[in-house]
Amino acid sequence: MNSTKMFPESLMMSYGYKPALSEGAIKCPIFQTSTFVFNKAEEGKRFFEVAYGLKEKEEGEELGLIYSRLNNPDLEILENRLCLWDQAEDCAVFESGMSAISTAMMEFMEPGDVLLYSKPVYGGTDHFINHFLKKYKIEAIGFMAGETEEMIIDRIVSAGMGERISMIHIETPANPTNALIDIEMCSRIKKYFSTASKDIILSVDNTYMGPLWQHPLQHGADIVLYSATKYIGGHSDVIAGACLGSQELISRVKGLRTFLGNMAGPWTGWLLMRSLETLKVRMDQQAANAKVVADFLNTHPKVENVYYLGNVADHGSSSEKEILTKQFSSYGAMIAFDVKGNEADAFAFLNNLKLIKLAVSLGGTESLAEHPQTMTHADVDPADKIAMNITEKLVRLSIGVENHIDLVNDIEQSLAMV
Ligand SMILES: *Cc1c(COP(=O)(O)O)cnc(C)c1O
Repeated sequence: MNSTKMFPESLMMSYGYKPALSEGAIKCPIFQTSTFVFNKAEEGKRFFEVAYGLKEKEEGEELGLIYSRLNNPDLEILENRLCLWDQAEDCAVFESGMSAISTAMMEFMEPGDVLLYSKPVYGGTDHFINHFLKKYKIEAIGFMAGETEEMIIDRIVSAGMGERISMIHIETPANPTNALIDIEMCSRIKKYFSTASKDIILSVDNTYMGPLWQHPLQHGADIVLYSATKYIGGHSDVIAGACLGSQELISRVKGLRTFLGNMAGPWTGWLLMRSLETLKVRMDQQAANAKVVADFLNTHPKVENVYYLGNVADHGSSSEKEILTKQFSSYGAMIAFDVKGNEADAFAFLNNLKLIKLAVSLGGTESLAEHPQTMTHADVDPADKIAMNITEKLVRLSIGVENHIDLVNDIEQSLAMV
């Protein structure tokens, strides 16, 4: 059996780890060490040549470790395992999702460039784009789900920005309302503005669906980004991030990571490897529970709009249905909905939940509820919030692995208090 032909969930317990190198330990130990001993000076010289890109690695050459800011077994084995889900050539793991996103943006853009991005994006990403990048003379132009290819291209052309676009960054489905964006359309926009001397980078933040339910690299994305804090970590006990793509692009990202020093440490690597063993069973259970919760919300008299991918399948426009079938293999475990009434009614719902916790973040084993307008999306432009249905009535749920009967009962009793 060729191990790379097996399903990722079968390989998460062992892939890339050799017990013989660690006293036979069945699990990869935590390599809590800052530096690694070279057998000979010649070996150290050779490792550095390759690590700093001064010379190419040879076919089949096994290189040793140098220093934990550059490489560490818990980091490298984790990266190899993450590659399996997205069928990526390489992966760089970071100490947070934000460090993965910001490092990629800094590597692929320079002053004078323009970033095209979908709205809404994660609040931290939005802040980084509109405050930090602006300070470094990188401009940004946004577009919303539902805008056509022609509309987006026209806007860029009439703003005179076409020649300066160097990166396109999107999130689909968008947080919190599950609005859909076509990755292949973005890939065509990328090609439209790319030239012989400039290949625009298309990056997709796949935190909401990945790494199981959507694989952006297969739809024309160049890099895929994750907050590994969410589904990948999955237990709300670690902050981490990842960036995946071709060897060429990821070696650039790793190069900048080496000098910013924002790689994940061995403990984070170990925790995430442990989490990956149960990734598929957790995500499958979360999606199954979310379906039950969404069905319940869809018929509840105190609930108005339910933003759930399963509802797009039933009632979406033809273009939404097309994106859904093309890009997603599950309806996911994120649901947003409007409580009939106003902020006080939404808050009454949130304050009366007993099992579901009132907290931001998503993708973990425990179900969470929050109020996007005043919490995760507090910083978003008020006009944009209205356009994106982020109103005072909107509540966002991340569904966990609890028993679905208890989840529905909790939501039912809490809605009764509204
Ligand atoms: C949480 C999140 C991030 C940021 O990740 P951190 O691990 O908190 O730094 C980025 N994008 C999305 C979509 C997120 O949900």
